[in-house]
Amino acid sequence: MANRYFNKEIETMSHSEKEVLQSERLVKMVKYVYDRVKPYREKMDAIKLKPSDIKSIKDIYKLPYTLKHDLRENYPFGMMAVPRKDLVRLHASSATTGKLTVAGYTQKDIDVWAECGARSLVMAGASENSVVHIAYGYGLFTGGLGIHYAAEKLGAVAVPVSSGNTARQIQLLKDFEADIICCTPSYAIYLAEQMQLMGIEIGKDIKLTGGLFGAEAWTDGMRKEIEQRLGLKARDIYGLSEIAGPGVACDCEFETGLHFQDDHYFPEIVDKDTLEPIGYDAEGELVITTLTKEGMPLIRYRTRDIASLSNAPCPCGRTSVKLNRVTGRSDDMLIIRGVNVFPSQVESTLLEFEGVEPHYHINVDRINNLDTMEIVVELSPSVKIDEVKTIEIMRKELAAKIASSISVSAKITLVSPGSIERSEHKAKRVTDLRKLK
Ligand SMILES: [Zn+2]
Repeated sequence: MANRYFNKEIETMSHSEKEVLQSERLVKMVKYVYDRVKPYREKMDAIKLKPSDIKSIKDIYKLPYTLKHDLRENYPFGMMAVPRKDLVRLHASSATTGKLTVAGYTQKDIDVWAECGARSLVMAGASENSVVHIAYGYGLFTGGLGIHYAAEKLGAVAVPVSSGNTARQIQLLKDFEADIICCTPSYAIYLAEQMQLMGIEIGKDIKLTGGLFGAEAWTDGMRKEIEQRLGLKARDIYGLSEIAGPGVACDCEFETGLHFQDDHYFPEIVDKDTLEPIGYDAEGELVITTLTKEGMPLIRYRTRDIASLSNAPCPCGRTSVKLNRVTGRSDDMLIIRGVNVFPSQVESTLLEFEGVEPHYHINVDRINNLDTMEIVVELSPSVKIDEVKTIEIMRKELAAKIASSISVSAKITLVSPGSIERSEHKAKRVTDLRKLK
């Protein structure tokens, strides 16, 4: 059997030892950013906080928050803590509005990121004997390169297929006998559909056993769907380009939450309105502090992701704090007729409904001062579209189910299989026409 851990000493460290390590690292980090990053020095000076006021990880709440806005304001290099010659890589992510957010990495940052990614790959069942098929995009987006270095760090074979050309992806999955696949959840479903169309036999032609899926918020229903269709165990991997790409947290086979690599990235949950820390098992905004990052350290970075943290023990033996699956980004949250709606809630409902596929698009508009919501969803190939009466009954049933689960009524439009555009990157699930008016 493959090793259960990539770095047993760290991954199973006692809570008290972990706290000592985190404290040492935070004290050093705060002094480091105060000396080297002007925006941090200014923020700390403004509240008369000195680096020496931070004596342990318990003092973290004293530090000011960092916002995405700070990264944009200081574009491109104003948040870096090292001269440009000490950086070895830049990543950037596009925002819905305005400038890109940039993250710079030193060689040590890349090594730490690869280590965290390798820990995640092991959680997906990978070992040095694995062939890791990487269908995340390679580029400024962190997915492809992030997993690539992680696979190499593990000593596995990295297959840098990147995104696109699905027929070739399937051919290579077969020929190289990959056991591990990494991509977005929506692309995993798409691959499965294409395999079915090509008559590929799962388990015979394709021998995948595990996969890391991330970069989109997804549900447990989607996890089961991927596992069933691709015949593998699907692990949820979390990362964000500002901190590090995939590998910040990942769940193990017990699915008790995503193990946060909290020796390098310290998570907190804060109330999204008051910004007060709210401790374990309560939902709020995820805030992350990098404890070891050299290139672009981030102090109490507000991720806009809604999540909770758990300190309950996990049967796998890992002792890290666990991230409860992100239900949605506060940025993604739709307010429809005064009700908060996450696209992930819609997805959960669709997955429970017989006869439709997890391919959907949400259109939001405002007509005569009233918010409207339309959910366009694909019928399953097994449903016969000419059965008009059945389709109409199904539409009504689904509308009722959506209304009861999200507390907002929506127009349901059922479309034929394959008619919603497939994405090889992050699926775009929502069009909010109200923002364009
Ligand atoms: Zn575990």
